[in-house]
Amino acid sequence: MSLVKPRHATRQVSVGNIKIGGAAPIAVQSMTNSYTQDVDATVAQIHRLYDAGCEIVRVAVPDMEAACAIGKIKKRLSQPEDGSHGIDIPVIADIHFDYRLALASADAGADGLRINPGNIGEKRKIKAVADCARSFNIPIRVGVNSGSLEKDIVEKMGATAEAMAESAMRNIKILEDLDFSDIKISLKASDVARTVEAYRLISTLTDVPLHVGVTEAGGLYAGITKSAIGIGMILADGIGDTIRVSLTRDPVEEVRVGWEILRSLGLRKRGPEIISCPTCGRCRINLFDIADKVENALLKCPLTIKVAIMGCVVNGPGEAKEADIGIAGGDGVGILFKKGSVVKKIPQNRLVETLIEEIEKYS
Ligand code: SF4
Repeated sequence: MSLVKPRHATRQVSVGNIKIGGAAPIAVQSMTNSYTQDVDATVAQIHRLYDAGCEIVRVAVPDMEAACAIGKIKKRLSQPEDGSHGIDIPVIADIHFDYRLALASADAGADGLRINPGNIGEKRKIKAVADCARSFNIPIRVGVNSGSLEKDIVEKMGATAEAMAESAMRNIKILEDLDFSDIKISLKASDVARTVEAYRLISTLTDVPLHVGVTEAGGLYAGITKSAIGIGMILADGIGDTIRVSLTRDPVEEVRVGWEILRSLGLRKRGPEIISCPTCGRCRINLFDIADKVENALLKCPLTIKVAIMGCVVNGPGEAKEADIGIAGGDGVGILFKKGSVVKKIPQNRLVETLIEEIEKYS
């Protein structure tokens, strides 16, 4: 039985090589937190994000130096100076306040622009951004944020979900009146209820593809919980074409959580699913350490298999047998299971490397 309602129909846009909306897979995004002007640091962080499964990356563009850096970043990503293979990941420029930064970012090679019309100002500036995006054939994401809605809307409606939807529709109309329809939209608030309500509302009003997230969700615990519930509820309603988990952490963690949300809802899979027990007084191996090491070692593994890491033989073998491959701990040893059968006993100090070796040769 699927947890997820049929997907809300949206038009499709392209961000570089990634399609958003229509029947395209729900894409996972993140945002760098390096200084964009620091090309080395930003390229290194984008590589780490890409390895973790990030499909679109956004960079902050606070000034002209950052806008110009996008050209260098894109070049270094596609043609690394050390002669290694390049990567193809769309880079979106995140613009606030100064529309000229959007023009410069597009000119430098950005694959998309994210603007907040509430702080870009006059229509002529938005028109300049739309004309520029059209000439470079790149989309614009209108990022509506409950904290920076247009003044007249807040005065009339407060910073409510209805106000966020009103702002979104107003900005869609502004762009469409300018004959620009290559749009995505996000409506983010820092609380789950308003965010969910805003997305439910907007999905009844437009077919513009939706970028989903709970903004400023917080640190690891609050951020993961709010994002999993908020993004999860929206996706389960069949709403959303791309997601970003927002955490006060290394953005690589955002990508990992994003993929876990998609996997939990049965929407997309990437890499092994790791099932591990919480341990209890029966556990005689260092399971936390083993689970951590295996999880990190498998970050780049493309196999969509189920891996069980269980503390003991009480529930352990049962779970491990249901997985494609797994271990159940004993006293200083682990029992390796594969496709439902016991393969061998492994001493504790060889458990991690043996399990990883077995996963690597799994077929
Ligand atoms: S698998 Fe064993 S160690 Fe883990 S929680 Fe269950 S009983 Fe405890």
